Amino acid sequence: MIIFKENLFVIRTWARRLKELLRFSLISALLLTGCARVQPVMTSDNDLVEMCKRFNVDLDLDRVNLSVVMTRGSSKARGLIGSEIVFVNNDKIALSGPLKKSRDSIIIPPDFKNKVIEPLIRQDSRVTVRKFREIVIDPGHGGKDPGTRGRFGSEEKMIVLDIAKRLRGSLEKHGIKTIMTRTKDEFVSLEKRTEIASRSKGDLFVSIHANSSPAKAARGLEVFYLRNLDSHEKKEDQMKENQKALFSQFSMQKNSTVLDNILADMVYTHKQGESEKLANFVTQRTANSINAPNRGSKSSAFFVLRNTLIPAILVEVGFLSNSTEEKALKTRFYRQKIANGLAESILDYANKN
Ligand SMILES: [Zn+2]
Repeated sequence: MIIFKENLFVIRTWARRLKELLRFSLISALLLTGCARVQPVMTSDNDLVEMCKRFNVDLDLDRVNLSVVMTRGSSKARGLIGSEIVFVNNDKIALSGPLKKSRDSIIIPPDFKNKVIEPLIRQDSRVTVRKFREIVIDPGHGGKDPGTRGRFGSEEKMIVLDIAKRLRGSLEKHGIKTIMTRTKDEFVSLEKRTEIASRSKGDLFVSIHANSSPAKAARGLEVFYLRNLDSHEKKEDQMKENQKALFSQFSMQKNSTVLDNILADMVYTHKQGESEKLANFVTQRTANSINAPNRGSKSSAFFVLRNTLIPAILVEVGFLSNSTEEKALKTRFYRQKIANGLAESILDYANKN
């Protein structure tokens, strides 16, 4: 991000000069854009520069990295030329078409004003954007990997699968699409789970687990989100694979390492910001609604949190090592209560943020 900001700063001045030059020199413009290409008619509705002027939004075009940053007060939107994805504050917005380069501006799709400019002005995107349209639910363990076991014979893999299915039911009732990383008692590798998330159109990854502790008295709910990764950790093989899968959905016009790196940065920042806030919210709300101790939200670098690219949380629903909680988790009633608590807290978060 530091390199990105420095680039922007240096190039901002350069871009302004270029813009002035272009404005006064048709020949330069033709040379830069190619004489044979037919330029579309620019109107105040499809010209990004005009649109930003009209709504008093600061615009930085980085013509080298082909990125666009729009600022209005404390609101910020970032996009890339060639991509239909724009990040508005903490929301990932899919436009009806990609941003396209023009002579001295950027051509924007018809829904840009609605989806990007208006939320920027309001400093609030909740009216036009629905967070979490599709949620990836990941029941931990499965098959040869039972997870932790309780004294009364419960297996984590079965408990969390049941809660995950109930969570799916609760979310779907509210019109949210879901994808499960497994729907039966089968082994699915951690790599595969993150791949499923990256190939999907999911906006959120929720992994469900049950806890265990040598301290038999330990009980309650806790929710993990990804701790900040260093630059080395961000280059993990699985993450790179998943980035390829995810970015292929963004209909980028050409392959470019620079663009991919910028996009990776945007995706990471978006994910980190959302995951921590959501983890806080979910642990408080759900613990409250299932009447369990709230052990809080915690950062960690679990594989599935590290290698998913969308906002991600890992919920430890309770301790199978605690006999009271194991007994509760063995009942359908309590598992449904957890699923409802999770669904309500996720939906509530989406409405409030
Ligand atoms: Zn587990």
